[in-house]
Amino acid sequence: MEIWRCEACGHVYDPDMGDAQSGREPDMPFEDHPASWVCPDCGAAKDKFAKEKKEEKPE
Ligand SMILES: [Zn+2]
Repeated sequence: MEIWRCEACGHVYDPDMGDAQSGREPDMPFEDHPASWVCPDCGAAKDKFAKEKKEEKPE
């Protein structure tokens, strides 16, 4: 699993959670966001987000 972090403000987009603030459905891969999508917190462009590994919690 991967998450995406805004390099401008630190906002994390977690595909498991979606992005309720801008009406995105859960389970939407970051790559599927339109190029016009921006950080819901600070408005930074999509290309300001950096991919990070998210640790899986063992059940
Ligand atoms: Zn941001």
